[in-house]
Amino acid sequence: MSGPTNGAGRDELPDELPDIARALTWGRARIDVMDARVLLRHVLQCPASRLAAWPEQLLDAEDWAAYRELVERRAAGEPVAYLTGEREFYGRNFMVTPAVLIPRPDTELLVELALAHVGDWRQVRALDMGTGSGALAITLALELADADVTALDRSREALWVAMANAARLGASVSFVQSDWFGGLGEERFQLIVSNPPYIAAADPHLEEGDLRFEPRNALAAGPAGLDDLVEIAAGAARHLEPGGWLLLEHGYDQAFAVRGLLADAGFASIASWKDLAGIERVSGGRWLGRS
Ligand code: GLN
Repeated sequence: MSGPTNGAGRDELPDELPDIARALTWGRARIDVMDARVLLRHVLQCPASRLAAWPEQLLDAEDWAAYRELVERRAAGEPVAYLTGEREFYGRNFMVTPAVLIPRPDTELLVELALAHVGDWRQVRALDMGTGSGALAITLALELADADVTALDRSREALWVAMANAARLGASVSFVQSDWFGGLGEERFQLIVSNPPYIAAADPHLEEGDLRFEPRNALAAGPAGLDDLVEIAAGAARHLEPGGWLLLEHGYDQAFAVRGLLADAGFASIASWKDLAGIERVSGGRWLGRS
């Protein structure tokens, strides 16, 4: 192991066990200060207030070693959510592993739209396609108290994570291992949501930041990033009740294309909705039944 490379100074590896303030100073010389705080809180299993209230508290050797390792892994690019094993989504903590995409705040728009579209329906039958951590399916199951939610994913590893999240958050969700509609049989739903892979395979962003560490098959979808959106839009009508909604998250420049896919598949009331950054992020339509 090599020592710090940035010379003498306050951020050098302390010889003795550091206190909280010193550990944070050491961390912030290597990574973002907010990330250093999150990682130290994770190691100490403590609220933010303890870091602020007890800066002179000494770390024990085990915690100091664990924190150093996490800071070094973060400095090498690993996402904070994979290092702590969790990420908040719609006000709840979800377990995440490198088998699943890290839930994004953008996707909360999809939750809000789903709730707005089925808000006063009773016992909604809902499907989440490509559930990953289960964030969408579990949130819908918990927000729509009497809903009957199914979540599918092709990845067995992702389904384990989603099932663990459903158990720890107390959500009742049915899980199905399926490559899109392949394993669904004749089932029909009133709501289908999906945050599928939608990044173009050659998009350089795949080689930057957190995306480098996330499952490639949860992110990339063919040359224009539309392969999975095409498949879902084309197959959804066969799995929707008349009057049911399909709501799809997509990339910043794909709204026009996705509205076209929905129109080709015979959907009505087609629209796109903007995320907090003002980007059309979700498009959807209503299936009115066989035309
Ligand atoms: N919104 C994510 C990103 O661009 C991608 C999520 C996805 O492909 N479904 O980082």
